Amino acid sequence: MEFATFADRAATIEAEPADLEVVAHVRDLFADAGSDLEIVARFAQGRVFPAWDSTTLDIGPSACYDAIARAAGTNVSGDDVEARLAEVGEIGDVAANYEFGGQQGLGAFTGGSGGNGGDLTVREVHEALADIAAAEGSGSQDRKVDLLFGLFNRCSSEEARYLARIVLSEMRIGVGEGTVRDAIAEAFDVPTDRVERALQVSNDYGQVARIARDEGIEGLDAMELDVGRPVQAMLAQTGTVTDALEEWDEAAVEWKYDGARIQLHHDPSGLAESDGSTVETRVFSRNMEEVTDALPEVVEFAAAHLEEPAILDGEVVAIDEDGSPLPFQEVLKRFRRKHDVAKAREDVSVRPVFFDCLHVGGEDLLAEPLTTRHDRLRSVLVDADADADSVADDEIEGLSLLWQTGDPDEIESIAAEALEAGHEGIMLKNPDSTYSPGRRGKNWRKRKPDVETLDCVVTGAEWGEGRRATFLGTFELAVRAGDDSEERRSAGSAVEPQTLETVGKVATGITDEKLEELTDLLEPHITVAEGQEVELEPAVVFEVGYEEIQSSPTYSSGYALRFPRFVGVRSDKDPEDADSLERLERLHDQ
Ligand code: ATP
Repeated sequence: MEFATFADRAATIEAEPADLEVVAHVRDLFADAGSDLEIVARFAQGRVFPAWDSTTLDIGPSACYDAIARAAGTNVSGDDVEARLAEVGEIGDVAANYEFGGQQGLGAFTGGSGGNGGDLTVREVHEALADIAAAEGSGSQDRKVDLLFGLFNRCSSEEARYLARIVLSEMRIGVGEGTVRDAIAEAFDVPTDRVERALQVSNDYGQVARIARDEGIEGLDAMELDVGRPVQAMLAQTGTVTDALEEWDEAAVEWKYDGARIQLHHDPSGLAESDGSTVETRVFSRNMEEVTDALPEVVEFAAAHLEEPAILDGEVVAIDEDGSPLPFQEVLKRFRRKHDVAKAREDVSVRPVFFDCLHVGGEDLLAEPLTTRHDRLRSVLVDADADADSVADDEIEGLSLLWQTGDPDEIESIAAEALEAGHEGIMLKNPDSTYSPGRRGKNWRKRKPDVETLDCVVTGAEWGEGRRATFLGTFELAVRAGDDSEERRSAGSAVEPQTLETVGKVATGITDEKLEELTDLLEPHITVAEGQEVELEPAVVFEVGYEEIQSSPTYSSGYALRFPRFVGVRSDKDPEDADSLERLERLHDQ
């Protein structure tokens, strides 16, 4: 497919207000995509690679602005592009306002009034983006910009609009996961629920679209979890014991471990790495990023305890010398560390606790009830030499404890015990529920005793004064707006463009040492600096406590946090995982 055709269809989709019509347009796009279907299905969502693949282009916004500027002409600079962006607010509009194709040098000069585009194919764009992702080592940033310039130089304005958005992961044409699912079902005449299941196990919209087209229902049903390829984590809502017991009669109760989510993939016969080598174990974060190298204890755990291929879901917890859990912030010191892991391990050690089993010995367990999955988990983790039936659960290393009960008093005493043991609270789970990747449904509910905290995106800051003049302080906080309702997401409807609305500023609870660390973390994300104040691109998420949420015209959300207090950086969360305006409203109403 020509990239111009893709851009043209994307523009039609973007202009379409009705969800059903959007699905129809995406359906037609898929039906016409021919041998480029996999790429088109990913591009439509602004992805270059499958969702399970954490490869990134590793090209920052300013490198992208430079590439646009170079393709736009000799009198345009990256700063001009950035200045236009500050005015226009959206990179696609900025790119589409330049005329490309006037730059000689890459054999792309097409003449006429600016870039005519038209000769670039979807496949060529994908190949060039894959080359950009693969470029590493010295001089790679220049090479990335060269490659991207080469693409923009061959683009028409409309092509540039969507290329810029794909590069910066800001597609925003209203094509969410549910739209792609429905469009695949309609385009290739297969049932939606089969497409949904295939998406859950494969986490690759491109592959599912191709298999639906080429192999139909049978092909989709034959798709299975692949050990080594992460699936989306099932998530939890906040909930009460009363509601849980009313709905299910009995609840599965577990401790809520205060750590970071991990998904362990293990195969003693080896998992393929992208460079052709094999490893036995890979560990992924809740956002499917690989964190294997940062967590050698988990790899050692797998080698010592797992004899069959398995996918386990759990939490990695920081522990002190006696094995007692340490606060969540301690685990983050280890979680994404790329250097000096051995040294960091001396300071803080971690241990995994698993609460779910998605796959074992060639068998997928997503459709099994929670209690069955937990039994399987137990048998995977129990020592092979032990008499499995006579070993108590709390003697099985790495196994989360699970109580099934309908008695609220018993649940309260489990919760008290959890807190006593240094955990965060309890999880209440529907014992009969299947595992739904990526869903924050009612089948898992969390109950924490403390006042809720909020995870906010940091959108601005101010330079300090006097002693603190070299530090950023007073951080502006925002939550996500847009229709984020549970119904909408469970229906898989298109994700609306996410905007950020401010809720307050936090300056308390931060030591000088921490301010220095936060300055290092945030400084690269400064987009605009005016006097003491800076604006930041959304990149970093802060967890903040507060005393109250008040209605207030001061901030764009219409709410203000009273006495906000810095709790920590949620380095395991991206801005899309921050709390929503909807949750803020709910907490305010409560
Ligand atoms: P929070 O900020 O409360 O940790 P979150 O947004 O990171 O929440 P939620 O889905 O809201 O994630 O809460 C569930 C999280 O709790 C899981 O992602 C997991 O990391 C953690 N957790 C700890 N113990 C358990 C358990 N026994 N079962 C499931 N999740 C658990």
